[in-house]
Amino acid sequence: MTVYILGGGPAGLALADALAEAGGPRFVLVERDNQLGGLARTLEWENRGAHDLGPHKIFSLDQALTARVRSLLPADGWITRPKASRIYMRGHMLPYPPSPLSLGKVFGWAPFVGMVWDYGWARIRSLLGRAAPRTFEEDLAGRVGRGLYEALFKPIALKLWGDPVNLDVKLSAGRVQTPPLMELIARTLGLSKKSQFEALEFEYPKGGLQRIWDAIHRKAQPHGEFLLGTEVTKIEVAGGRIARLGLRDRAGGAERVIDLGPDDFVMSSIPLGRLLVLMGDAVDNGVRERAADVLRLNDLILVFLHVDTPSLFEDSWIFVPDPAVVFHRISEQESFDPGMTGNGSIVCCEVMDNETRPMMELADEELVKRVEEGLRSMGYRFDAGASRVIRLRSSYPVFRPGFEGALTDVLATLDSIGNFRTLGRQGAFNYIGTLDAMDIGYGAARWYLARKPGAPDGWQSERERTRHYPVLD
Ligand SMILES: Cc1cc2nc3c(=O)[nH]c(=O)nc-3n(C[C@H](O)[C@H](O)[C@H](O)COP(=O)(O)OP(=O)(O)OC[C@H]3O[C@@H](n4cnc5c(N)ncnc54)[C@H](O)[C@@H]3O)c2cc1C
Repeated sequence: MTVYILGGGPAGLALADALAEAGGPRFVLVERDNQLGGLARTLEWENRGAHDLGPHKIFSLDQALTARVRSLLPADGWITRPKASRIYMRGHMLPYPPSPLSLGKVFGWAPFVGMVWDYGWARIRSLLGRAAPRTFEEDLAGRVGRGLYEALFKPIALKLWGDPVNLDVKLSAGRVQTPPLMELIARTLGLSKKSQFEALEFEYPKGGLQRIWDAIHRKAQPHGEFLLGTEVTKIEVAGGRIARLGLRDRAGGAERVIDLGPDDFVMSSIPLGRLLVLMGDAVDNGVRERAADVLRLNDLILVFLHVDTPSLFEDSWIFVPDPAVVFHRISEQESFDPGMTGNGSIVCCEVMDNETRPMMELADEELVKRVEEGLRSMGYRFDAGASRVIRLRSSYPVFRPGFEGALTDVLATLDSIGNFRTLGRQGAFNYIGTLDAMDIGYGAARWYLARKPGAPDGWQSERERTRHYPVLD
């Protein structure tokens, strides 16, 4: 009996960790990259140190899960970092969340009074009860009023995901938090430093996220096999079960086929769209087309600059909704672990490609040039050093109106395959963080180990449990 784990990101690795901890069954983890960790991996950069694939704050409200992940490393393998962030808009740095006074300074006092008026109306209307919002725009304009929405939240949406009238309310409800009014007032007046809205501290593994994945690798290796640099190229379904997997060694190109035994099982975190292609005719054409139409993933470009200064800014990250600047967020690896970047600093600038801002068509040199211009326009002075551009294709789920129906259909089709489950961020089109993905992996292992022949398998309640995770920015 073997469990095949397709994809070695946080979800697949947590699953391997839990199976190993339970002492079996044996697993085979197949990962196309040469390194484990998926979107949460850490890369070395010649003599410049190391950096993650973008800034990762490790945080969950689930204390038991946090303790479990912490225990993968020795106690002194973790550092607690303060989380500080700001927003850059129209030549001004605003605190995050923006205080009323800072909005007045940025947008001017007359428009600001209009925003307050709109905000007040929005609050009154919400007390009177309004129709349930369907789109990002209806939700945010209803929560904060039209003025503030147009000034701040619409530019954020346009830069990150696309036109907000074409985005499902689940995106804004899940990803855009607005602090309670009393908290905002208390923090503006300096009466409170606490927040129910954002995590003010986060944990970080000393040396980079890769330490967690390496620890799982070491711990689980005696109980299974890790096939790195190996791509799943075919998933054959026969008689309602996965019968065969096609694999390709990416370095040498050698292909091989694994025939599954009657008790073998497959769990996949391969992006859903790709998975449907790998399954070919086993999935109804209509389901595949609907998924391709609505379950979209945006491409993200990470532009890393090595600058010859210990640090450019104090913040964990700075959000940049300003449309004049090419990136939407910047961070420095040094803010996560100052020990990872030696004397210089590695700055990560995130550039999202979406249908309103096609960025993937820009060459690397042009992206680097625009990123440097953006940083300089924000007032940062630095000598341009080395740069690297990493393109993460299909990495950001975009919730289009109607996506939930399509997702339910696709997942129901896949869940009807007896010895197969799909999970994780792209694997189940779930806009989640690293610890959420690990929670899903641990949960999938618990579910798998508890199954009893002839009894209802309970997978739907496990799916439901993992459908919504709170986001604290
Ligand atoms: C820029 C950025 C910033 C982020 N910041 C945070 C943060 O601050 N906090 C946080 O908690 N989370 C953050 N995340 C999200 C976090 O990285 C993801 O939630 C997490 O990595 C999802 O894990 P996963 O295992 O579901 O998917 P993935 O990490 O995507 O893993 C899937 C794996 O499947 C492999 N694969 C795909 N196709 C195949 C194939 N055909 N054959 C074999 N293997 C295949 C991939 O190579 C990959 O390793 C961030 C992500 C990005 C990109």
